[in-house]
Amino acid sequence: MPDLQQTTFTLDDLRARAEGRGPIPPEVGFAVLGSPVEHSLSPAMQNAGLSALGLETRYGKIDCPPEKLREAVDLARASGFTGLNLTIPHKFEALKICTELDDTARLLGAVNTLLFDGSRTVGFNTDGQGLVRAIRDVFSMDLRDQRVMILGAGGGAGTAATLQCALEKCPRLVLVNRTVEKAHDVAAKAKALLHSDRLEGPDDPVTVIAFGENSLRDQLSRIDLVINATSLGMKRSDPRLVPAELITPDLTVFDMIYRPAVTRLLEDAQAAGARATNGLSMLLHQGALSLEIWTDRSAPVDAMREALAKAGGAKVP
Ligand code: NAP
Repeated sequence: MPDLQQTTFTLDDLRARAEGRGPIPPEVGFAVLGSPVEHSLSPAMQNAGLSALGLETRYGKIDCPPEKLREAVDLARASGFTGLNLTIPHKFEALKICTELDDTARLLGAVNTLLFDGSRTVGFNTDGQGLVRAIRDVFSMDLRDQRVMILGAGGGAGTAATLQCALEKCPRLVLVNRTVEKAHDVAAKAKALLHSDRLEGPDDPVTVIAFGENSLRDQLSRIDLVINATSLGMKRSDPRLVPAELITPDLTVFDMIYRPAVTRLLEDAQAAGARATNGLSMLLHQGALSLEIWTDRSAPVDAMREALAKAGGAKVP
């Protein structure tokens, strides 16, 4: 058996597997499809989970270019896989491939988990619930009680976070995005979900703003939780999204980025005395939820957490 955390399979490997040969062992029944995918920590986490459940099926990673998603999914089903995770760039395109969607995938307009069930390909999205569980796990608080500012609300992860907040009926949402029109589109969907419950006050429960010190300052005084769903912070040279002096000790900061483990935003939050965490807990919980969909059993979260920390070289809160 190859080291499934270190090995990245290709579409050719998947074609060979469908013909009963090649490097993907028959025990591999799950995989993450993405491009690039070699840095994914999911094999380490999921294989620890599968082992802890006493299952022999294994989880690999497969690099699949965007235009080959349908072929890859068909090959995986034909060669006996039980399910797949999908990451960049496949989450949106996958909607067209599923024969059925669960409510969350349909609502978020994106799929991160596929389950093969006979001829059915069922699409799920565990990102939003993964965020809910991560926030509860790390901060012992419920997303539904928070006034939330989402940085990067117009991106894929930001849309999922925003709509999850709307589903949870969060009392206040402030959507921030570089391309403001995208945040307005997401705001319209969020408002539709919040409709009827929360329109009693004069304040609109969903506000869209652009990045900028003054607009951020105005809003942050009425926010409990800041979620970074942009990709800014992955590089040390990235500019600050939020000026350090705007972060106050009463804020809670959730950065979806987990590489590096401590972004500049998290450094600023810690320096200000605010509670803060990175995205490893979300990665853990969205993965645990996928495993539950595939196995219909409770995920062994502690074993998965430990494996994720070891593979990622950072403690998972
Ligand atoms: P995406 O769809 O490409 O969205 C990227 C977002 O970042 C958009 O809102 C984009 O704004 C914004 N952005 C990019 N460059 C920017 C800049 N220079 N200034 C301001 N905003 C900028 O990507 P995604 O899939 O949502 O992923 C976003 C981040 O979340 C990534 O770091 C990813 O690793 C992380 N993530 C983590 C988890 C987890 O489990 N922890 C899960 C999913 C995603 P525009 O709309 O203006 O382009």
